[in-house]
Amino acid sequence: MNLVLYNLFPDRLNLYGDRGNVVALQKRCEWRGIQLTIVDIKSTNDMNLSSVDIICIGGGSDREQGLITKELLKIKKEFQLGVEDGISCLAICGGYQLLGSFYVTSEGTKHMGMEICDFHSIAREDRQVGNILIDTKEFGRVVGFENHSGRTYHPYQPLGKVIKGYGNNGEDGTEGLIYHNVIGTYLHGPILPKNPAITDHIIAAAIERKYGKKELIALDDALEYETKQQAEKICLTLQRG
Ligand code: GLN
Repeated sequence: MNLVLYNLFPDRLNLYGDRGNVVALQKRCEWRGIQLTIVDIKSTNDMNLSSVDIICIGGGSDREQGLITKELLKIKKEFQLGVEDGISCLAICGGYQLLGSFYVTSEGTKHMGMEICDFHSIAREDRQVGNILIDTKEFGRVVGFENHSGRTYHPYQPLGKVIKGYGNNGEDGTEGLIYHNVIGTYLHGPILPKNPAITDHIIAAAIERKYGKKELIALDDALEYETKQQAEKICLTLQRG
């Protein structure tokens, strides 16, 4: 089996090791004999999503987000169609915000989004920073790190419920978003290496769309779970500012 991953703007959107998500996908494919071709996208000119199975978008500062907005808007329609057709997508923090209609920075600058889903994000002066722990129905406990000024409110299925940390807005107890095969989340960390159930979900969804439903070979995740447990412990014991 052969999958193609587009990593959008790795030179601009790669906060707190978001590149590690791509590496996690690559490794878990490789360990199963699935070929994953990774294409780093720096411009969306002539971009064609028809042969793409997985899209990764990392997080970025307000400035970096502003710089890539124009590029993203060029593929807005195609991206929307791809999502409706079941393309897999992982969007982190600034990338997650750009799945909505717009993001307004704390200085009042409005960055238009791709309108994959009907929501928007608005920044406040204070940032929501720290380790975060959430409970999810699909993937169990998920650990990560968040650092954002944007607050997101939406009516879609959240990725999870906040146990410790802020999540979408620090108010309604939700974190992230799931829409078709899209996962949007504020969790950096990067999220995938410590949460292999999410990585496998992305791979399985991409395979199902391309080849039909297939069982993924089980991997030994002892190291991943140990790391996750340690991160969970740190998250639960450390005092938040
Ligand atoms: N610039 C956005 C915010 O501060 C996203 C930051 C990020 O990707 N960590 O909300």
